[in-house]
Amino acid sequence: MRTKGLILCTVFLLICSAAPEAQRGAGGPVTAIVGATLIDGTGAAAVANSVVLVQGDRITAAGPRAMVQIPQGATVVDAAGKSLIPGLIDVHCHLNQPPDVMRKLLPVALNWGVTTIRMTGNDKPEIMHVYTEAREGKFPSPRVYSAGQGFNINGPYPGAPTLHPATPEEARAGVQVHKALKVDYIKIWMPGFSPEIVAAIVDEAKKVGIPITAHIGNVEQVRQLADLGVTDFMHEARDGMNPEFIAYAKAKKLSFAPTLGQGQSRWFYYEHPEFLKMDPKFDGFYARGRAMLEDPARKQQIIGAADFADVKQRFKDNNYPFIKMMSDAGIRVVAGTDCGAEASQTTPVGHTTHREVQMFVEAGISPLAAIRDATLDAARVLERTETPTYGAVQAGKIADLVLLDGDPVADITNIDKINRVMRAGKWVQ
Ligand SMILES: [Zn+2]
Repeated sequence: MRTKGLILCTVFLLICSAAPEAQRGAGGPVTAIVGATLIDGTGAAAVANSVVLVQGDRITAAGPRAMVQIPQGATVVDAAGKSLIPGLIDVHCHLNQPPDVMRKLLPVALNWGVTTIRMTGNDKPEIMHVYTEAREGKFPSPRVYSAGQGFNINGPYPGAPTLHPATPEEARAGVQVHKALKVDYIKIWMPGFSPEIVAAIVDEAKKVGIPITAHIGNVEQVRQLADLGVTDFMHEARDGMNPEFIAYAKAKKLSFAPTLGQGQSRWFYYEHPEFLKMDPKFDGFYARGRAMLEDPARKQQIIGAADFADVKQRFKDNNYPFIKMMSDAGIRVVAGTDCGAEASQTTPVGHTTHREVQMFVEAGISPLAAIRDATLDAARVLERTETPTYGAVQAGKIADLVLLDGDPVADITNIDKINRVMRAGKWVQ
């Protein structure tokens, strides 16, 4: 018996050592990203001269070079002089375009290091299959979530493909339509619906297990939904800059995606025409938006306006204090831009997400916290857990990574200096 066991063991060892998988571990080849300044997305201080190991779609180790052993046979990527951050997350986009345009723009988002994107309403049923293709890897794409068409009684976007139920029964039926389309979220635009209809949407969504995300503009709208259990909000409630609302928002664990990108893109890309001349793989503009940005008369009208400096200052004065106050109070502020919204043609997919992070820093949030807001904290909001499967450069997380030619902590404008992007363990460019 003993001899037989020994022989079996020997044979087994021979087979194992002959198989390259065995040497590299069960998950296949290892990539070691060596020497980068690591910003892990948790808000923790950067780690100079780091090693991050990736195997399969996961990060298996991340830390200072002295602490992480590089396995023999690993493919080493020399990242000295670069910074490594988690893939960026944009929780607020609307890419309701024909399928061929979607198949072009989703890869652009990924090339910009946006490895997760949520479409928050206006998705017509006939384009939902594009997201299925994206998830199946038929073309390069960020991890993508959809809220289907969503519920909007009229809103600022006339003609947008949304549902507008007139009764609670129609509201419940609308949620069921969304369920059949396998949406990830249900979107409500506030205000407009009667309290009964709002309650029916939220209740039916709860019954079918689909979380709600909502467009809001003031405390009353937030409270109406938060009292029903909704926590995930887009835009700001600027009348909530007081201790009472802050205590309420903290107690209810609310999060806000202030959505600055869309507002600022009304002029930003006129001031920065270099973004119109980039490699096509970074071209996240709609054809109509690009034409608007390339129109000299329109450019003059916007950035040549006598009150242009005031417009920019007003934008900061209106938005930044809310963001800073909520963030300082420990209320989750996450990156969302309205990228790709039909109503805001000049908000490109991809780069606007970087602008959002940069504006968080302009508002007074530290670079490390702003990066956390666009990575781990955004993943927490999307996966609705404190320990999401992605969003940080930590052992066990999905390997969504962005290598930067520059240090975004020293200067947040370096966050868009993309060197290389990894999505679920695979380099995408
Ligand atoms: Zn929106």
